[in-house]
Amino acid sequence: MGYLREMDHRRCVFVPGPVIVGAGPSGLAVAACLKQRGIPSVVVERSNCVASLWQLKSYDRLRLHLPKQFCELPLMPFPQSFPTYPTKQQFVRYLEDYSTKFEISPLFNECVEGAEFDPSIGFWRVRSVGRRGDGEERRSEFVCRWLVVATGENAEAVVPEIRGMEEFSGEIVHTSCYKSGDAFGGKKVLVVGCGNSGMEVCLDLCNHNATPSLVVRDAVHVLPREVLGKSTFGLSMWLLKWFPVRLVDTFLLIVCRILLGDTSKLGLVRPSIGPLELKNSAGKTPVLDVGTLDRIKKGDIKVVPGIQRLTKKTVEFVDGEKENFDAIILATGYKSNVPSWLKEREMFSEKDGLPRRPFPNGWKGESGLYAVGFTKRGLLGASMDARQIAEDIERCWIAEAKNLPLLSRSLTS
Ligand SMILES: Cc1cc2nc3c(=O)[nH]c(=O)nc-3n(C[C@H](O)[C@H](O)[C@H](O)COP(=O)(O)OP(=O)(O)OC[C@H]3O[C@@H](n4cnc5c(N)ncnc54)[C@H](O)[C@@H]3O)c2cc1C
Repeated sequence: MGYLREMDHRRCVFVPGPVIVGAGPSGLAVAACLKQRGIPSVVVERSNCVASLWQLKSYDRLRLHLPKQFCELPLMPFPQSFPTYPTKQQFVRYLEDYSTKFEISPLFNECVEGAEFDPSIGFWRVRSVGRRGDGEERRSEFVCRWLVVATGENAEAVVPEIRGMEEFSGEIVHTSCYKSGDAFGGKKVLVVGCGNSGMEVCLDLCNHNATPSLVVRDAVHVLPREVLGKSTFGLSMWLLKWFPVRLVDTFLLIVCRILLGDTSKLGLVRPSIGPLELKNSAGKTPVLDVGTLDRIKKGDIKVVPGIQRLTKKTVEFVDGEKENFDAIILATGYKSNVPSWLKEREMFSEKDGLPRRPFPNGWKGESGLYAVGFTKRGLLGASMDARQIAEDIERCWIAEAKNLPLLSRSLTS
């Protein structure tokens, strides 16, 4: 990394290798794969740690949803001592060890606020604002040949607008700020959203003597996390090697009916498309049940329809029913933030901030632009992207690296 000059009060830095935006699992995976090929990179991260989603924005009881063999990053398996579903603390420890092993030292507290390709020099200009310990801001511009977008599908919390929200006197929090049910003991809590997070937060609230209700607006596939001691995800992956997706879906739905019963009787209606086909076509992840369904069956968690409006203490539902609640937890998901900073509209959709080209072709754009971790296939998808990106950059690196020092000199002069 070479210092160039001050421009418009912005420190200008020439980076001979790629700039990776985001030090989550995806960004770390690309940096490690590049390192293994002898290519240096600079990782820029807006928060003060690696894997900020896991360290700062997730609840205490979180474990990996999928068995560890489907979640490890390239070049470093999980320790054997880890359980099948590592806790978030174990996963974070693994990522910190990963950074140490591959000598990845992200630039922390450095938020990328703009990036664009400058055709006049054939380089990307990545503008960031850094916050130092004394609270002072420092603006920088990184100039690089390759830009890897690793800011994730979960960069910003999605907070829906609900009529009367400002009137409601209780606490309203997004799951990104929810740590545990500790603070909600004895309270009536409405959880909005029935994905993996919403279902698990309900269970956590039950375990802390709160009384949760779960808003279910849309159809949802709930699958058992395991079938006869084998992970449902692993079993599905194995079956997909031999059978078409619709047949595997039929099998899964029969298993669900036997193990979980008719979930529609609990208010959880299944979509008309099977769980794997729905994941492939719409990216909608099925819920892997870790015990919530049992608590719904026992009546510890009430399933309620969509919200019509809020008043001071009351929630009015679309079916006209009204009920008082002490707090509302929004398990309403996350979205990509790419359109807010990347000045590029070919590769990434402005609408959802995800690559336009569907899996497995979304990882590569034009002019040295790459995307990692946007496949809706979790850590497995991120690892696949990371390997391909490093391989691709290596090809250009070998061809172009000898010219980079010359370019760097011409940029400084
Ligand atoms: C509760 C929960 C549980 C999950 N469980 C699993 C699981 O068991 N298995 C699985 O495979 N997947 C799981 N996932 C999916 C999840 O997306 C991945 O686990 C993983 O965190 C994705 O890594 P990432 O690096 O792509 O994104 P992130 O982990 O979100 O990392 C992106 C990083 O980019 C940084 N960033 C964003 N914008 C900027 C900017 N402008 N400038 C600088 N830095 C920026 C962020 O601060 C963040 O650190 C889960 C997700 C959630 C929310």
